[in-house]
Amino acid sequence: MATLKVLNYGDPVLRKDAEKVLKVSAKIQKLVSDMFDTMYAYNGVGLAAPQVGELKRIFVLDCSTDEEPMPRMVFINPVIIKKESAIISREGCLSFPGVYTDVKRYESVTVRYMDLKGKTQTMTAIGGTLLCRAIQHELDHLNGVLFVDHVIDRFSADQLLAEHHLPPIDPEKILVEPELDEALSGVAL
Ligand code: ZN
Repeated sequence: MATLKVLNYGDPVLRKDAEKVLKVSAKIQKLVSDMFDTMYAYNGVGLAAPQVGELKRIFVLDCSTDEEPMPRMVFINPVIIKKESAIISREGCLSFPGVYTDVKRYESVTVRYMDLKGKTQTMTAIGGTLLCRAIQHELDHLNGVLFVDHVIDRFSADQLLAEHHLPPIDPEKILVEPELDEALSGVAL
């Protein structure tokens, strides 16, 4: 068991693109196991490899709640192949200790990925569930995108970041998401 150090917002590694995994080697399996140890140690529901300084296209999730246990999941080289509708999601991130803010997400996504056995899998998560939102949040990390890039209220998010001694939102990183904005236009903010 090994708990890895989670990088905080401001570390340039979090803005880099992660590399595709070509083979699920013993080294990758060890990384995945350490990522689970780290995620549980920090009480997170998801963790992406770049957050522990490994620029590999891998993330892990455990979206279990007291009411609904779920299996722990590993996503290698994930790609979202379908996305629909929009929701507002209140999110936090292990790289932003103590910061929670509302962001825009798709309400349903279909993701294709490789599992730890090297087998291709497809999963659809609908209804804006924690699983659905976590897939989008963690996949973003593999592209150097952070949840605050989807922010709805930049100014209150900046205040929160300052309170937690984290850098402000980078206005150049804020995503233009007309599809999400349009889907959300009927939703009261
Ligand atoms: Zn995160």
